Amino acid sequence: MTALPELQRRVLADLRSDTVTTPTPEMREAMAQAPVGDDVYGEDPTVNALQAEVARLTGHEAGLFMPSGTMTNQVAIALHTRRGEEVICAEGSHIYEWELGMMATFSGVVPRFVPAPLGVPDPAGVRLAVRHSIHQSPTGMISLENTHNKAGGTVIPLDILAAIRAVADEEDLPLHLDGARVFNAAAALDVPLADITRHFDTVSVCLSKGLGAPVGSVLVGSAAQMRQAHRYRKMMGGGMRQSGVLAAAALVALRDGPARLREDHRRTRQLADALANAGYSVNLAAVQTNIIYVTLPDAAAQVAHWAQAGVLASALGPDSVRFVLHHQVSDGALEEAIRVLTA
Ligand SMILES: *Cc1c(COP(=O)(O)O)cnc(C)c1O
Repeated sequence: MTALPELQRRVLADLRSDTVTTPTPEMREAMAQAPVGDDVYGEDPTVNALQAEVARLTGHEAGLFMPSGTMTNQVAIALHTRRGEEVICAEGSHIYEWELGMMATFSGVVPRFVPAPLGVPDPAGVRLAVRHSIHQSPTGMISLENTHNKAGGTVIPLDILAAIRAVADEEDLPLHLDGARVFNAAAALDVPLADITRHFDTVSVCLSKGLGAPVGSVLVGSAAQMRQAHRYRKMMGGGMRQSGVLAAAALVALRDGPARLREDHRRTRQLADALANAGYSVNLAAVQTNIIYVTLPDAAAQVAHWAQAGVLASALGPDSVRFVLHHQVSDGALEEAIRVLTA
């Protein structure tokens, strides 16, 4: 392992994830000034303001601030299901692939993946996956991911969302959105956030991905659901006391972040085109927001080689490399990165 200070000095562009951003001076200032209180008692005014703001933007009644997107998703699963049930979700969904079996250990439920080319499940396929027979695990909920991380940051079209909402209504099932990057989806579709989030009973929104906050996600839903969610959050160790210092940074991220996502998407397209032109295997149809997957032999060795030249990416499989753009990669840094990656 190279020592981190040594590495940082040589980094031209950190494209491993949109979680690597550091708080802006405006966030630091807001953190220093934030009024705070004990949030486990519901008394932190800055946390309350953040929850109200995310609820307003998503068109939901109430919100609850948590340390991570894993926690907001898993609290939502606990809210909507009973032990022994299934969670219908798109293949490759983060709630199962990258949340450490938590739906089984905390809620006692199992996933039922449905096919989802480019991260978009077919509403008819979702309907087919619903089970009510006494011989099978009953369906407890449906969960979608928008944008879909593993599929390449892909966006679910609004008519598909409406059709899956109709399936949920007809089958009397709750519908959750893992909206870690739902602001990217709204930017890509050029619609207000609520046009997406209003289709769901609960939505998990990450502030610490492309929006750039240092920590935190918010779960939104009804006020009654959020009262229950508060208990599950405490069970998971997510009662955070004077967390207004974090919420203050997240409020700045909500104010300044969404408008910057279009720039991230433009730069992502520029990098994807440059990689494709240089002969890399990139599925350009999947490049819709701020993520690019490249298929190449020996991903780990290639990533290590690029890191030596100052460009950081993630090897996410033996032959798969992921690049993620964020607001702390400037046009200049991107040009440098392209020079290294296409050398
Ligand atoms: C990052 C991410 C999450 C949440 O991850 P945490 O690291 O727990 O904050 C959830 N869903 C998706 C799709 C993500 O990309």
